[in-house]
Amino acid sequence: MKAGTALNTRLDHRNPLVFDTHELGRRPGAMQKLFREIAAPADLGLAGVIGVPEGAPLKLKLRLEAVMEGVLVTGTARASAVGECVRCLESVERELKADFQEMFSYPDADDRTRSKAEPADDAEDDEDTLFLEDGLFDLEPVLRDVVVLALPLQPVCREDCLGLCPDCGLSLNDDPDHHHDAVDIRWAALQGLVTDQGVEKDNMSGTASDGVQGAAEKQEK
Ligand SMILES: [Zn+2]
Ligand SMILES: [Zn+2]
Repeated sequence: MKAGTALNTRLDHRNPLVFDTHELGRRPGAMQKLFREIAAPADLGLAGVIGVPEGAPLKLKLRLEAVMEGVLVTGTARASAVGECVRCLESVERELKADFQEMFSYPDADDRTRSKAEPADDAEDDEDTLFLEDGLFDLEPVLRDVVVLALPLQPVCREDCLGLCPDCGLSLNDDPDHHHDAVDIRWAALQGLVTDQGVEKDNMSGTASDGVQGAAEKQEK
């Protein structure tokens, strides 16, 4: 019987993102603080944008609190994230600090809730509620979610990054005065056109609307 139970346990206490609550116990109000520095798992972050490199140090500070229905886990994850500036493609390094709070319910506490709840709610509950398994909980899904939320979707090397020249790809940060004369001429021509058209349009629309208004007034009378 016992061997079977062990085999059914999905969580491995040797996994650095799996935590044990046995020491904490189940007496509501019991509290335990933990600090763990681990090697970051693979694919932690925004794929292809910015993330914590696999194996990089990831510091986890946790506070476990036993409550009636389970263990409330509050914590902070810190690591260095590496990505690429979306404007100039230079590498970007960001200090990541992600706060989280998550409830891991006792499986038996869930049974009590479930007996009261309507059967239709079960599917939803299973998705939203995280459970302790043999007193262990897996922080990985929580960590993945908060890390993604804490990272910039469009990282830049600096707020005023000038990006790349659209014509030749040179980094404008290296040479802010860089330009191509042909582009300047086109711009000048385009700007002249816009101004001229704007003036003409204004005159025309003014006349046209006057005419419409005049016609409408005539119809009303
Ligand atoms: Zn940049
Ligand atoms: Zn250029």
